[in-house]
Amino acid sequence: MNAPLIDPFARAITYLRVSVTDRCDFRCVYCMSENMTFLPKKELLTLEELDRMCSTFISLGVQKLRITGGEPLVRRGIMTFFQSMTRHLESGALRELTLTTNGSQLHRFSDDLYDAGVRRVNVSLDTLDQDKFAAVTRWGRLKQVLGGIDAAQKAGLRVKINAVALKGFNEDELTSMTQWCAARDIDLTWIEVMPMGDDMGDETRIGQFWSLKDVEELYGESYTVTPLPENSGGPARYVRLEETGQKIGFITPLSHNFCESCNRVRLTCTGELYMCLGQEDNASLRDALRANLDTEEPLRRAIRDAIEHKPKGHDFDYSRQKDGQSTGGQMTRHMSHTGG
Ligand code: SAM
Ligand code: SF4
Repeated sequence: MNAPLIDPFARAITYLRVSVTDRCDFRCVYCMSENMTFLPKKELLTLEELDRMCSTFISLGVQKLRITGGEPLVRRGIMTFFQSMTRHLESGALRELTLTTNGSQLHRFSDDLYDAGVRRVNVSLDTLDQDKFAAVTRWGRLKQVLGGIDAAQKAGLRVKINAVALKGFNEDELTSMTQWCAARDIDLTWIEVMPMGDDMGDETRIGQFWSLKDVEELYGESYTVTPLPENSGGPARYVRLEETGQKIGFITPLSHNFCESCNRVRLTCTGELYMCLGQEDNASLRDALRANLDTEEPLRRAIRDAIEHKPKGHDFDYSRQKDGQSTGGQMTRHMSHTGG
């Protein structure tokens, strides 16, 4: 019953992204509205339940675990969860334990994360300008995040920056952010903004689509760009800038079809499994998890059933939203729900 998870399109599922909270200490304009109603705490899986969920996925062949949110480091007691996952790294069943964070709490937790076996961390940072940072995150403070990045590097964590590419917002920072990262030996990945939540579509807001094709072309004007063959099984492509030796990533969920090599599923903090970021289809694993505390068999069955329903590809498409006629292709849930 421990055979690996293979979906109907012969893709092995080896990567689980887990949102451990829907809460966050920021309110990024493309991710959340300013007045969010968060889930009552009792609806969240407990840390012990998260452990059982992840451990069961690992027993079914998941080798990489990314903890996300909301902001994962604002979940109370989350370090206990990281520490409990260390055993799977030590046994060799889990190859990588990592997280995506806004960086606001890294000054507190970087050493503990390293001790738990985390070696790499993705930090989301769209601008190096204090005022712009305050505008895009609404509640964030740049200084705290930069301090967190320093702490992470000091602790021995390899940092990658994820920046959402926003037209008219950080276009002018392409070179300065690239140089800032190069000076710190940090890789940089640009993300195309996705049509999620309720902020998109209002032209006056920060959140306008900036095609990464344009970003790549801009790099070509100042650097020698070499495409890299790496494939993470996800929507990222990578190039190397020969002048700096830096790896630059492009996450283009809208303009590239990456679905044929998709190896991942996403678990929400309430125990719903999303088989695809771009589809609403999900399966609740919570009842199966709670069905029997002595065996994980019901949960294993529920996971296998869900994987049987993993769709062939995603449904994002701006072209279907012309003239405000249709919301087809737009996900109404917020990114913080499925964890990005
Ligand atoms: N709070 C953590 C953080 O910001 O890194 C983890 C969760 S956040 C939802 C994960 C990633 O999703 C971040 O890099 C964020 O920039 C990205 N994100 C959120 N909303 C997005 C959107 N509408 N389009 C593209 N990326 C988005
Ligand atoms: Fe919070 Fe991350 Fe969403 Fe920003 S992108 S509001 S930091 S969850």
